[in-house]
Amino acid sequence: MKDIATLHRTKEILAKHGFSFKKSLGQNFLIDLNVLGNIVGAAGLTPESGVLEIGPGIGSLTEQSAKLAKKVVALEIDQRLLPILDDSMAPYPHVSVIHGDALELDLAEIVEREFTSQGITDLAVVANLPYYVTTPIIMRILEAKAPFRTLVMMIQKEVAERIGAKPGTKAYGSLSIAIQYFAEAEVCFTVPKQVFIPAPNVDSAVIRLNIRKEPAVRVEDEAFFFEVTRASFAQRRKTILNNLTSHFGKAAKPDVEAALEKAGVDPKRRGETLSLEEFAQLADALLSLKKR
Ligand code: SAM
Repeated sequence: MKDIATLHRTKEILAKHGFSFKKSLGQNFLIDLNVLGNIVGAAGLTPESGVLEIGPGIGSLTEQSAKLAKKVVALEIDQRLLPILDDSMAPYPHVSVIHGDALELDLAEIVEREFTSQGITDLAVVANLPYYVTTPIIMRILEAKAPFRTLVMMIQKEVAERIGAKPGTKAYGSLSIAIQYFAEAEVCFTVPKQVFIPAPNVDSAVIRLNIRKEPAVRVEDEAFFFEVTRASFAQRRKTILNNLTSHFGKAAKPDVEAALEKAGVDPKRRGETLSLEEFAQLADALLSLKKR
């Protein structure tokens, strides 16, 4: 049997099941075996690996992971795809599909039940994400703190650039910080629109997030650290002092100034110039302002 991810076989499967794409679910299926090979290659899968996939579609990427890994678990929200996956994944009994919303399913519990408890400990997320929920899905995976080694995901190029951005660049912001806190981020390669059916409106890239054993910086309160970084970029052209004062209220200005001094950060700097370490020191120095 030919691989799913060719234009011919994909069209055949879609026609057989009378499937029509739902734009609202970010359904752009991959039809290029080279790109798929590069995605699974970037994840470094071995016969011992466990793969969690978000959004298998008709199984194009799932199949390529299944050829390399010990077990693949795929979470799919669209009920109409379940019978199709039943059919297309029949040659791969070590693939299981769970119907549900990746933003609602208990990811830590799924990882424990499907992998860890079965002795599968080399874990990767390999996915071509639905673009309308890229960031919430990535944050949810990271915040679940499941023992993944790496996350290799196709996402919008513009989001990939923001995730991988370094301080002092235009793309650097609270998303870069939130993700680099948990992982070493790397944009692996960009992908042309023609390798999808239907072609998406935006350019795409594959990103690899190698999960850190410990977060990049030590902070007293993780949620508050993220709150401070988001507030620092609320208006990119404002200074860090002005953004933080807007966030915590005018009355807090002396405390914000004191915290900036304690953290050794010039109040006139802009958020985009601060490193993760500087944000960590600043968040800890501001902790007394935490809203209860
Ligand atoms: N993996 C397939 C491929 O590469 O051809 C399909 C990728 S397509 C970009 C995204 C898939 O995610 C679709 O199958 C869509 O139905 C599914 N999806 C969308 N939102 C989802 C959600 N919240 N939870 C789980 N799956 C979702």
